[in-house]
Amino acid sequence: MVKINESYLKLKAGYLFPEIARRVNAFVTENPDAPIIKLGIGDVTEPLPDACLDAMAAAVKEMGDRATFKGYGPEQGYAWLREKIAAQDFQARGCQIDASEIFVSDGAKCDTGNILDIFGKDNTIAVTDPVYPVYVDTNVMAGHTGEADESGKYGGLTYIPITADNEFTAQIPTEKVDLIYLCFPNNPTGATASKEQLQAWVDYAKTNGSIIFFDAAYEAFITDDSLPHSIYELDGAKDCAIEFRSFSKNAGFTGTRCAFTVVPKTLTVKTSSGEEVQLWKLWNRRQSTKFNGVSYIVQRGAEAVYSEAGQAQIKELISFYLENAAIIRKELESVGFDVFGGVNAPYVWVKTPEGLTSWDFFDKLLINCNVVGTPGSGFGAAGEGYFRISAFNSRENVLEAMKRITTAFK
Ligand code: PLP
Repeated sequence: MVKINESYLKLKAGYLFPEIARRVNAFVTENPDAPIIKLGIGDVTEPLPDACLDAMAAAVKEMGDRATFKGYGPEQGYAWLREKIAAQDFQARGCQIDASEIFVSDGAKCDTGNILDIFGKDNTIAVTDPVYPVYVDTNVMAGHTGEADESGKYGGLTYIPITADNEFTAQIPTEKVDLIYLCFPNNPTGATASKEQLQAWVDYAKTNGSIIFFDAAYEAFITDDSLPHSIYELDGAKDCAIEFRSFSKNAGFTGTRCAFTVVPKTLTVKTSSGEEVQLWKLWNRRQSTKFNGVSYIVQRGAEAVYSEAGQAQIKELISFYLENAAIIRKELESVGFDVFGGVNAPYVWVKTPEGLTSWDFFDKLLINCNVVGTPGSGFGAAGEGYFRISAFNSRENVLEAMKRITTAFK
């Protein structure tokens, strides 16, 4: 008899974004002329940088010529891209990361899920609360959790609250956990981690033999020079951390698809028989077996991010979104909202007014302002009473949405 992976049945049915879509569609069916502005889902809105477009156009031409045509590339990514990533994203910041430790992929989302392939089933796992839901759901799918309770928390996971009460820092757990997911700048709260805070995590991981999965998908939004962009800026991180990066949010590649994962060769774990195994070897094997690389064209586009023109253009893009975030912060504060994040991150995390639940506030914004955001409770129980507003939108939409909200909540 065929058996399915019954762990999938543990997944909460009302996944956040489908539920948002359901409510918006119901509202639009009844109010077909409502001028809805979506500041919910974290997708970029601005077109690709010219440098990336030009590089991809040239690569398309190469594919049309027998002399320059490319078939399968290296599963780990082309050396010319890995070398630029290693040099500019890491070595330039004093992190001794080698090109061979970079694995180019088609997304940080897939990588943060796929990484579980190389780990055993009996690890204790910690996630922050609120959290990027992919970390939790991929562990549910892999059979690493129990059932979810009423608030959506899964048995077997350690939840680390990040709330206003602890100034949005992830407090180090008192118990020992094996795998820890950290994301800074944080989705959804927009919070950042200082060098001291991250160093404390690295020290914890080294003391306890834990591995940190560090998701730095939003590192490009860091404007404060004192904040670390990579976990490898901290002493000892190469022995205990895997870092995930993406071109989605810095260069607008959400639809183009390119990302990378860093697995240092110094990162080792002992087998049950005491043998020391390099995680790099396992990930390399996993990628070579289950992945055939990112398209040549897209990798050329990603490479152009590291050109002088590319760097200037992505800076402009990021500044644009950060200015949106600053407008959102300022306008909401002007009518008395408590706002967090949105300074070194594209997300503004808002305390719901009048003690409204996250979903009640969602409905109120939708009905009264025709603005869609994301209820904080959808990211975890500790997100209840908060709301995420994304700065990924046109200036016109941001200004209009803020005008409507400040008028409604004056
Ligand atoms: N990691 C975080 C924290 C995210 O918020 C997102 C997308 O919203 C991703 C990863 C996905 O990145 P990618 O587009 O590279 O799959």
